[in-house]
Parts: sequence; structure tokens; C-alpha cells
Amino acid sequence: MTKRAKFYRSDRWLKFLANLKDERADESGVIICAHCGKPIVKKYDCIGHHKKELTEENVDDVTISLNPDNVELIHFKCHNLIHDRFCGYVQRKPQQVFIVYGSPCSGKRTWVSENAEPDDIIIDIDRLWNAISCSEKPDRLKANVFAMRDLLLDQIRTRNGCWRHAYIIGGYPLTGELERLADFVNADDVIYIDTPKDICLQRAKSEAMIGYIEDWWERYTPPVT
Ligand SMILES: [Zn+2]
Ligand SMILES: [Zn+2]
Repeated sequence: MTKRAKFYRSDRWLKFLANLKDERADESGVIICAHCGKPIVKKYDCIGHHKKELTEENVDDVTISLNPDNVELIHFKCHNLIHDRFCGYVQRKPQQVFIVYGSPCSGKRTWVSENAEPDDIIIDIDRLWNAISCSEKPDRLKANVFAMRDLLLDQIRTRNGCWRHAYIIGGYPLTGELERLADFVNADDVIYIDTPKDICLQRAKSEAMIGYIEDWWERYTPPVT
């Protein structure tokens, strides 16, 4: 894993970012995007962007990495725009990997569909199930579905293919499991879709789904920051 990717998932960065969000929010908790000037409504849409970009060389220099003057709070989507423009066609832009996690019915897939671009790759286990079965996740196909997922995860890990951003969608209620995956694919960011449990339950369309939601919240351990 690169030092840079490690930094973006470190406690000191996450704490720094949480403080910055508190400081820059108005009384009603709204943060204005430093790029487009519109409010950032959802917490998970808010990204800390380094104006002077972090590299393997300067990441340990706290006057760059943890300097509030060097960090802007912007929309996730605006962030992708900024990085696409700066890297443009001059240099080959590094592929970026995001893990999007949270309870069933929290809106992970919707969020990804709102942010992903045509050249992005999306790994969504539910859609892999749909691709090879006419029924609701039959147990006997488990090995095949997981093999498809593992193949794709391996391609993402090795940055194989011409995609630009990769979105890995999953529940990942356990911090350990999430961390292992993030390390494995060298993720640039993990995004928690923080929809409250009661809203997830309201969206559930079947008894089985209610069961999945209850089960997820039972196992979920919020990260300590
Ligand atoms: Zn914006
Ligand atoms: Zn940035």
C-alpha cells in the first residue's frame, strides 16, 4: 500500500478532517463546497482535498498534509472533476479505488450511480447475483458468484484494465473486514453511506430484506475516531 493511501485512512487524518468539518459548518451544520459553492448535504459527499497535492515524498510533511490552509472541503463529484482536469491528458492519471459501504437499503448503489462516470468500473455483488441467476441468491450459486467477485477484485487490486475509478459496493459491517479489503485493493478512500437504520427499514420491500438490515446493524461496529 502506498504511504499516501495509508495516510488518507489514518486516524490522524480522519480526526483532522472531522475537526475541519465542524469548524467550517454553519450553525445548521451545512458545509459549502469550496469548488462549486453549493452546500454539501450528505456527510459522505464531503471530501478533504489537498490543494498542494500529496505525494509519496511530501506526505510526512505536516505543514502540507495536516495544514488547514492546504485542505479544501468539496463534493466527492467536484473532487473527481478537479483531479481529472489537473491531470488531463498531460500525464496518465492514476486509477482510483473507492469502497462504498453501509447497511442494506442505505442507498449505496444510488450514490454510486450518481457519482460514477461511464469509464468507471462498479463491483456490486447483488448485480453479480442477478447476472447469473433467475432467483433470489440461491445458496448453490454462492461459490460461482464469489469467484466472479474475487476475479474482479483482483483486477482492481492490480489496476488491470482501462477503467478510471473503481467503486466496490458492499455491506462490510465489520471494521476488520473493511480494512482488510481496503489494504488488499489499496483503496484511495472508503465511503460510509450513513443512512439511519429506521430509514433503511422503511425502504425494505421484503421480510428477508428486513432481516438483512437487522443483521447488518447487529454486526456493525462504528470506527473509533
Ligand atoms: Zn462542489
Ligand atoms: Zn484532491
